Amino acid sequence: MKMAGFYDESISNGLGWRAVLFVSGCPHHCPGCHNAQAQDYNYGQEFHKQEIIDKICENSILKGITISGGEPLCKENIGEVVSFIKEVKKVRPNFNVWCYSGYTIEQLEARNDETTNEALKEIDVLVDGRFVQEKKNPTLKFRGSENQRILDVPKCLQQHKIVELAI
Ligand code: SF4
Repeated sequence: MKMAGFYDESISNGLGWRAVLFVSGCPHHCPGCHNAQAQDYNYGQEFHKQEIIDKICENSILKGITISGGEPLCKENIGEVVSFIKEVKKVRPNFNVWCYSGYTIEQLEARNDETTNEALKEIDVLVDGRFVQEKKNPTLKFRGSENQRILDVPKCLQQHKIVELAI
């Protein structure tokens, strides 16, 4: 997997101070994509998991990590993303994990495969759905278009319904 970028700390990619990893590669090709270069699976730098984990460990201000892209949950990236989240949680067990995906939670659950189910168990908040230019709304917090939802994943899984995060 390649990475399109990494922020040591950010407050605009989820609640609280967070590290942000942008993975490379996305199959969705949404018109008006905010990060079009990251649609290419070969864009950016080689992803060295341990280097990123070391950077996270150095920064005590962080409350969590956000995985964005690109598409973290496509078949090309999801395995490495799950393994990365698990490693992060070993060193920062209380870390809160946000993930941006062009897939909806319904599409991810419908895959019914082990890796996707594992990913959903590791993610606290999923900002789901493709970016839709016609529904773009710059006043929205943490998302680009009105179709996208900010989901409380543990509650969605426990209650078998859509539960949006109250923010
Ligand atoms: S899902 Fe995100 S990264 Fe992928 S094309 Fe759409 S806006 Fe761009």
